[in-house]
This record gives sequence, C-alpha cells and structure tokens, in this order.
Amino acid sequence: MIRKERVMAKIAQVIVDVPTMQTNRPYSYLIPDSLTDAVQPGMRVAVPFGQGHREVGGMVVGVSDADTLDETFSGKLKPLGALLDLAPVLNEELLSLSDWMAQHTFAFRISTIQTMLPAALKTKSHKFLVADAPIDDPQLASLFDDQQRLDFTAASLTDEQTDALAKLQQRQIIHAEYQVADRAHVKTVTWVKSALSPTEIETARKDVRPNAIKQLRVLTRLMDLQEARPLQDVLTDERLTRADFTAATKKGWAELSEREVYRDPYANHRIAKTAPLDLQPDQRSAVNAITEAIDAHDPKTFLLQGVTGSGKTEVYLQSIAAALAQHKTALMLVPEIALTPQMVNRVKGRFGHQVAVLHSGLSAGEKYDEWRRIERHEAAVVVGARSAAFAPLTNIGLIVMDEEHETSYKQEDNPRYHARDVLLWRAQRHHAPVVLGSATPSLESRARAERHVYTRLALPHRINQQPLPPVKIIDMREQLKAHTESNFSTPLIEALKVRLERHEQSVLMLNRRGFSSFVMCRDCGFVLKCPNCDISLVLHMDSHTMKCHYCGHEEPIPRICPNCHSKRISYYGSGTEKVAAELNSLLPDARIIRMDVDTTRRKGMHEKLLNSFGQHKADILLGTQMIAKGLDYPDVTLVGVLNADTALGLPDFRSSERTFQLLTQVSGRAGRADKPGEVLIQTFNPDHYAIQLAKTQDYERFFRVEMGIRHMGNYPPYFFTALITASDKDEGVAAKKMFELSDQLKQTLSPDTIILGPTPRPIARIKNRYYYQIVLKYKREPKLQSVLDGILDDAQREQRNGLQVAIDMEPQNFI
Ligand code: ADP
Ligand code: ZN
Ligand code: ZN
Repeated sequence: MIRKERVMAKIAQVIVDVPTMQTNRPYSYLIPDSLTDAVQPGMRVAVPFGQGHREVGGMVVGVSDADTLDETFSGKLKPLGALLDLAPVLNEELLSLSDWMAQHTFAFRISTIQTMLPAALKTKSHKFLVADAPIDDPQLASLFDDQQRLDFTAASLTDEQTDALAKLQQRQIIHAEYQVADRAHVKTVTWVKSALSPTEIETARKDVRPNAIKQLRVLTRLMDLQEARPLQDVLTDERLTRADFTAATKKGWAELSEREVYRDPYANHRIAKTAPLDLQPDQRSAVNAITEAIDAHDPKTFLLQGVTGSGKTEVYLQSIAAALAQHKTALMLVPEIALTPQMVNRVKGRFGHQVAVLHSGLSAGEKYDEWRRIERHEAAVVVGARSAAFAPLTNIGLIVMDEEHETSYKQEDNPRYHARDVLLWRAQRHHAPVVLGSATPSLESRARAERHVYTRLALPHRINQQPLPPVKIIDMREQLKAHTESNFSTPLIEALKVRLERHEQSVLMLNRRGFSSFVMCRDCGFVLKCPNCDISLVLHMDSHTMKCHYCGHEEPIPRICPNCHSKRISYYGSGTEKVAAELNSLLPDARIIRMDVDTTRRKGMHEKLLNSFGQHKADILLGTQMIAKGLDYPDVTLVGVLNADTALGLPDFRSSERTFQLLTQVSGRAGRADKPGEVLIQTFNPDHYAIQLAKTQDYERFFRVEMGIRHMGNYPPYFFTALITASDKDEGVAAKKMFELSDQLKQTLSPDTIILGPTPRPIARIKNRYYYQIVLKYKREPKLQSVLDGILDDAQREQRNGLQVAIDMEPQNFI
C-alpha cells in the first residue's frame, strides 16, 4: 500500500564535507517540519553521514518539495541535524559560482564553497545571537543573557526554538555573531546614557549628600547624556572614571551598553581625501568608454594597456566613481604584493568609508568585519587580493583587475581557479564591464584584444611627459673576465655613488626566481639537497641553517663536504642577505633597506619598510620581486637589476614573458616625478630578445616576437593547456597511473590534441612524494570535460591508498 503522507515535506540538497568521499552530487536530507521555513540555500548545516552517528558539516544548495516522493522513499531520508546559520552566508549568485567553478577547475564543490567563505565561517566557529531589540516572546527572551547574547553553538535548542529565532533574525530583531578560536569575534565598545530625565537628575542631586562630590559630578555629566555616547568620549574629564559610571548604573541613574564596532585595519592611517584629477586626453577616452559600458549594463571586457606611470589608477578611480553614481558597487582586484598602503590609500583617499579592503595581511577578525560590511551593504567598493573575487557584493557595476598578467591571480592549490575567470563570470551575471589593466598584459589577454574579444584602451604616455627611463644593459660576462665574483658591476656601483652624492634614492632588485644561495663543494661539486625533496637546500643567514623551501626541513650549515670531506664547501649564488653584506662593504655610507620574505614575514613589516624608504630614511632599497610593483616615489632615480636572466633558463614556456614583464615593471619605478630616471640591467644573456626588448620597453614588439615563438611551439594563446599530475610515496605507482591515464587519453581525445608525457615533474619529489605529469595541449576538445571528470572520479576511489591525481587547467607554473 502506497500512501502519500506529509504531502508538503521539504527536502534539502546538501553538499557534505567528507574529505575522503568527495563528490559534487548533493545529498538529500529531510527538513524537519519545525524547520520548514527556516532552511534556505546558502546556510551551513550539520548532517548525519554514513553508518553510525557521524555528523559532518555541509552547505545547503537547494530546497525542494518532497510531495512527489512516496512514503517508502522519504522514510529512507535522514533528517538534517543542526542548522548553523539563521540567514544564508552565501547568496544565490555565489552558490551558482561555486558550481561553475567546481566544473571549470575540476575541484570538488565543497572546496569551491569553502574558498568563498571568510576564515571566520570556515573554521570551527562559535556562534552567538545578539538581540538588538526587545523580544516579545518571554520564553525566547529568557534564552538570552544580561548582555542580550545567546551562545547558539553551545545551546541545545529545539527545532521550534531555532525556527522562531530564524524568524526573529529575518525581522532584524536579532543578529548573529561568530567567535573564532577563543577570541571574541565581534569587538564592542561601551556606551553610556542617562537613565534619568533632567528633572529626575535635579531631584537626585538634592538627595545626594553635599560632600559626595563624585556622585554630583556624575549627575552633572548625565545632564547631557540624554542620548547615548561612547563612554570613552565621556571620560575625557579626568575626574570621572569608568567605576563612577558603573556605580551610577547600580543606582539606576545611568545605562551602560556594549555596541559592536568593526575592527578597522586602517584606523591608524591618516588618509587624506583626494579629489578627481583633470584627466589627460587618453585617460579621458578610457574613462568615457568604460562609463558608457557601465551605463549601458554592457558586460564587455576592456584591456587597459598603459605604460608604467601613465595614470591607470586614476582611470580606475574615476570609472569606479561612475559606477557609484549609478548606485552600483565596484570590485577591484590587485596582486597581494601591490596591496601596499600606497594603493589602498589611493582608493580610500577617494572613496573613504565606502571602501572595504581584503587581503592576507588582515587578521581573521578584521577580514570577517570587512566581509560583513560588504554583506550588509555598508561598503560599496572592495579592494582586495585574489580571494576578494568572491566578495559578497551585490549590484556590481564595475570590476577592475590591476596588473592582470600577475601569476598570483591563479591559485596553485585546490580549487585551482584563476581570479580573472571568476571576475569575467561575475561580470556576465551582473551585466557589468571589466577593466583588465597592465603595462605588460598577459599574452592571452593581449591576443584576445587583437581578435576584438576584449576592447583595447591604450595609455601610451607617462603623465609627467617624461620619456620612459633609458635602460642600459650590462654584460656580466665582461665583468666576470675583469673581476672576481662580485654581484655588482663597476657601472652599477658608480651609478649608486652618484645617487648618494645627489641625495637621490635607488632601488635594486635581485631576481629570486630560479635563484637562491645554496652550498656547493668547490672540490667535488657536491650540492646539499633536501632529504625529502629533489631540490637544493637554501642557506639562511639569520637562523644559520639550511632550509628546504618546499617541506620546511632544516639542518645545520655543513663545515666539511659530506661527500669528499673537503673544507672548500661554501655558498654559491647570492641571497639578498649576502648581496646586502657585499653592498655594505662597497658603499659603507649608504643606508640600505633589505626587503625579502625573511624581513617582511612579520605582519606590517612590508608596509613599514616601504614607508621608511618613502620618507627617505634610506638611500637604497634592495629586494626581491616584491619591490617591482606599485612603488611611486619621486626621489627614486636609479633602478638596478642584479640578475636579469636567472629565470630565463627555467623549463617553462612563459619564462621570457615573465622576464620581460618583471624588467619592464621594475624599470617603471625610476623617474616617476620631475627627476629623470635611469635603469641598469646586469645579465649574462645580453642578446636574449626578452632582455633586448625590455631595454626599449617595447611591449608591442615583444608581443609580436613572443607570439611567433608560441605559434611555432603550439603554446598558449594558440593552444589551451591542462596539466595532470599523479603523486604517490611509491614512484612506481605514480608512474604506472600516469601511463594508464595517458593511454586512456590517447584513445578518447581527438588526434589534434597534443599529449606530452608522462614524465617526472621538473622537481620530481616533494615531501617524499613522487610526481609524474602529462601536459595536454588542445584547441577544441568537446569531450575533455567528461573525460577529466571521469579521471577525477576514478582517482577518488584510489585515493585511500595514497595515490593523488590533480588536474590544473591553464597552469601558470610548470615546475
Ligand atoms: P600607473 O598605475 O599607470 O603606473 P599611476 O596611476 O601610478 O600610473 O600614475 C602615475 C602618477 O601620475 C601618479 O602619481 C598619479 O597621481 C599621477 N596622475 C595620474 N593621472 C593624473 C592626471 N590626470 N593629472 C595629474 N597627475 C596624474
Ligand atoms: Zn666535496
Ligand atoms: Zn624538502
């Protein structure tokens, strides 16, 4: 007998968080009647999973009626456990973005969902409910403590209570707060208000003994506290203390309350308000074109190609202003490293409190506060690094991506997404234009502009009308013949001395890519390697140890060669520390600031070092790649690159592009104001086209030459690429798996697709796991999605034995 019972029962589709059994298929759970109205897509839940009483976290991605299900089936469905949110933490747009991303990046949906949430909502967090207004239901009201807070995570609430609370939150009578680890997650300040009317105060004064001076003072003060004010402001009168007001509260004279405040990471920065500048003609046409697209709700993509110092930022700012004028919001992404106070100040200076900032330098609490300001529509402009692509902005009118060629926009771990793709997706959804800006666009983007997929906007001149600084190439092979193993050529040292005499500043860059200081035996050539990874250990002077940059292994610096027992084992190559030491002995009077991963590890150091350089407290800024971008200091007239070509030898088809971009970027730091600049590039490959074209900073020529090379080699942008990697503790297992996959791919994919490999990865072993890879190069491959989906599903089953398979679409790094 089949009988339809509970006709309107509802079912929640939940993506569950079970690491070993990932799937993109949502599981169905019965929504208990008592929660029928409360459960919505985008809420986090706890659900029973598998045999036994295991409870796992999950995200509701859909809710449907169960009326088509017969009783037998619905009887099999387990009911939802706890509801962790009373309002969705991901809106509908972000939920469908998580779905698209999972497919597009071959990641599991739970990982795309988690990537979108701020850390405060990702980790095990404690949740509180806070009442903002009186709750009429006395039974519910009694759940809240004196502070009007309810510890939601710890409370064992009935479903009816949860449901009633959800309704209160919908009516904005209560709101939710989260606490991460053990620190209170929401910061509060105390406010004070008089509980007495002015006449009551007069009466109270008469009742107080005339020698109770403190009490009289408090009463006087309460006169102008008919409206609540922060206690801190009231206590400016030194003769009153917090204790006096606590006492007054006990007497029923005053009321103290805690009010939530946002942690403002930029609270201590005094940022001057700026007005829009008068645009140069090229800037004006760019802003006009972008504004037109904003007004027309046209989700087109612009490539803003402007030489360094051409005023791209002003174009961004005025375009953002145009979006705000349409009562829309704006999202601006910049590379993590460019999130220097300079860039943040420029955006905050223009838009003030409307700006929220998201980057990895913020604490979890600060990030969460910024995230909530966005979600509550209190911030209309978001500036942030890669993950800010998921900022919960609604009604987006403009999206900007500065330095669009930066590889840090691609996440290297799961989900392996490129922020640019995410932005383009959101632009379509919001009918908003995208501006991709760069002095050296990625070849992919520049090629799309060539085919009119993107609209190219050019800023070919510097604002100051100064020419780009002249670049001299110094052939280090000549230097080597004449000198010892110095890192500094004679012309570079001479140029630095001239700057010191003129009280001008210099920036020196050491290209860290493909370069570091390692220890080598001069007698037998032995190089100290990591015992877990196939890579040399790097010398760290500060800790006096050898470290592995992949797994963190650390050991003492060897005094004698472990291989031949020679004492002639010593550093080879140069880290920034060693270069700084050499510079110090060559120019003892120069004040040097060193900037690299070691000196900027502590929070705020990056900013601090840059500020003191900006205040001319040093003559030379010596650093790695991190100094190449965004610096805009008028006293910098010399830029030196110590080793232009160390990256050229890397086995990666983008190494020329990266070298050209880096040299162009860093050269752009010189001569940005009135004083003309100069750039010196030291290299062992003076004739290489990437170096020669960086000399003239001729991006367009570089683009043509490099496109020719990519065409011959069947590389992007002519082909798409995908990297498939298998890794295992047993080298044979990883290799065997890759050969199987390679056979499978050869049989299914079209004959035009090029399959490279399987080969061991250039760094074949990391953390004692062996890596094998296949690179796919393809133009049109309709079956690719389903084939790769299948590979991933199979791999999931084998994962239990330790074998891991990863798929990286359009990898930015082949090493
Ligand atoms: P880019 O990002 O293209 O390298 P910036 O945006 O940093 O260039 O601009 C370089 C300098 O020119 C900045 O100091 C900026 O304030 C200034 N600038 C930009 N546009 C104008 C303008 N229209 N008038 C005057 N100064 C401008
Ligand atoms: Zn040796
Ligand atoms: Zn290692």
